[in-house]
Amino acid sequence: MTHSTDRNQALFERAKALIPGGVNSPVRAFRAVGGTPRFITRAQGAYIWDANGKRYTDYIGSWGPMILGHGHPAVLEAVQKAAVDGFSFGAPTEREVELAEAIVRLVPSIEMIRLVSSGTEAGMSAIRLARGATGRSKIIKFNGCYHGHADSLLVKAGSGLATFGHATSAGVPPEVVQHTLVLEYNDVAQLEEAFALHGKEVACVIMEPIAGNMNFVRASTPFMRRARELCTQHGALLVIDEVMTGFRVALGGAQSIYAQQIPGFKPDLTVLGKVIGGGMPLAAFGGRRDLMEQLAPLGPVYQAGTLSGNPVATACGLATLAEISKPGFYDQLATRTRQLTSGLTAAARAAGVDFCTDSEGGMFGFFLLPALPQNYPTVLGTDGARFNRLFHGLLDAGVYTAPALYEACFVSAAHTEEDVAATVAAAEQVLQTLTK
Ligand SMILES: *Cc1c(COP(=O)(O)O)cnc(C)c1O
Repeated sequence: MTHSTDRNQALFERAKALIPGGVNSPVRAFRAVGGTPRFITRAQGAYIWDANGKRYTDYIGSWGPMILGHGHPAVLEAVQKAAVDGFSFGAPTEREVELAEAIVRLVPSIEMIRLVSSGTEAGMSAIRLARGATGRSKIIKFNGCYHGHADSLLVKAGSGLATFGHATSAGVPPEVVQHTLVLEYNDVAQLEEAFALHGKEVACVIMEPIAGNMNFVRASTPFMRRARELCTQHGALLVIDEVMTGFRVALGGAQSIYAQQIPGFKPDLTVLGKVIGGGMPLAAFGGRRDLMEQLAPLGPVYQAGTLSGNPVATACGLATLAEISKPGFYDQLATRTRQLTSGLTAAARAAGVDFCTDSEGGMFGFFLLPALPQNYPTVLGTDGARFNRLFHGLLDAGVYTAPALYEACFVSAAHTEEDVAATVAAAEQVLQTLTK
């Protein structure tokens, strides 16, 4: 396609003139993989179409929310009905109560919940609540886990365990991150050492149970168990960030999977987003009643939002939850995902390419590595140039996957056996070229 007829390129040029980097969220700019971002004009089921009219099988699903695929009829109807009744009131509505009841019913650790508009807001608020409830300042997070872009979370590890982190963004003063300790994911010994040194000052440990912002890395069961034990022993809270995994890997979230392996396992607070809004701006945080009652207007921890519990967003979320609560939904979703990951594995083996993959429910990751990584430095050991060739080869073939090697991918209920088979066939071709 020549430059003048490439509408993606033309739109990107227009966008770059007015919007920093041409995008409203950095990963969309394709900086990691190079090339022109696709401007999406519409979506239906498992497919999205770009500004040139090219169709892609969508394995991003808006980074997770579109678990039913795009334009699911029941969800669309609920949203259209809600929009007619009003976009926003800034006053309570019945649907907020219904959504709270639905989530509390499905996630046993959540006794009370507050709705917000983004995962960033939910994570930031959960940390404020943890600090307010414990009267402590320090937080522990893990290298490679993403919890939104709140100042105190934009941190990389300091030079040792006794030193706190450095900001990863300009504009974050050192005083703001001096209370954030960044540890290596899945490193039990380091976590024990950190608690031995700082235990009395730690308000919370926050973690992704399956880290989807370093592609797909599970917290090992011993690591999760020890995190729970250490928090309890030291009076710190365990905050599980299920913005990506919640209602994506299982109906009860990733925590329901750990609860099968760790008797009585429960986080103190859970952060939710993505799927609970079904593609609309909606997120939440919730957990123990005694903690949630510390929030304004009941308690001293302030938190608010003009569009929180938005009536159109809650309609979208409720309709989505109704569909995914149907019997067999996750079995079918997981089967489809595994069809894809096993197909990709076979294709890579045939091509002689180092490859490994993991999945849970409708979330998966793949690595051009000989074995599944346990932490972020190992993920980053991937050959970036090879990954980029794979990404662009798939994109040219009409398969839209994450444009960075540290992001997870997603399968929706709209992906058919034929869709997945076609993706595997495309991957076979591209993987063959990687060895050349
Ligand atoms: C996407 C994500 C967030 C941030 O949510 P936004 O809605 O983008 O602010 C936080 N935590 C995790 C685990 C996420 O995947």
